[in-house]
Amino acid sequence: MHVLIVEDEVRLAQNLARAISKNAGFVVDVAPDGNDGLHLASSGAFDVIILDLMLPGLSGSELLSRLRAAGHKTPVLVLTAKEDKASVIGLLDSGADDYLAKPFDLGELLARVKALIRRSKGQASPSIAFGDLVLDINTRSVSRAGKPVELTPMEYRTLEYLMMHQETVVSKEELLEHLYDYNWEKFSNVIEVYISAIRRKIDTHASERLIHTLRGHGYMLRLGNGR
Ligand code: CA
Repeated sequence: MHVLIVEDEVRLAQNLARAISKNAGFVVDVAPDGNDGLHLASSGAFDVIILDLMLPGLSGSELLSRLRAAGHKTPVLVLTAKEDKASVIGLLDSGADDYLAKPFDLGELLARVKALIRRSKGQASPSIAFGDLVLDINTRSVSRAGKPVELTPMEYRTLEYLMMHQETVVSKEELLEHLYDYNWEKFSNVIEVYISAIRRKIDTHASERLIHTLRGHGYMLRLGNGR
């Protein structure tokens, strides 16, 4: 998953980025002002946006309005400076999905970010199942038919994205955008390597193949198609 933090307080942004990457294994990009933030947010490469309100350039609420007006549906968690009921209602009305008042608890922020991503992908529970394959986004663990599967962090991230987009064709470019920061082009030939490693670990000894390649289109988790 790929998280965008739009925040001009450099130390806070860096601490958040580190915590999110360490705790959740997500890739994080930081935009230090509203204009950069809008530009990145409009790329569609992010699974959640953490948006500060007080920003140089474009304000957080202006960024949010423009993003939603352009039809972008990426979930947005707003950081507010104080508990201001009126502005919170306004923000939720203008398309924010959640908010946290500063100063906030890091654990709470992480939990909300994960929940926002999960819900936006149509998953109600942190434990996501596909056939007999189960992935838990809180413990970052995977099992197939009850047996634990050991994945490297990048293999896990790749599978997590596919699990959140079950029965949907996911292109290589989409995977790259959501698994790497903005320099993803330089990694463009690694996806096949991760997919074949994941396949080896989850599909090789199973009765049913779950990861399918659609030549020229991408990959898809699909059931009901035995080997
Ligand atoms: Ca700020």
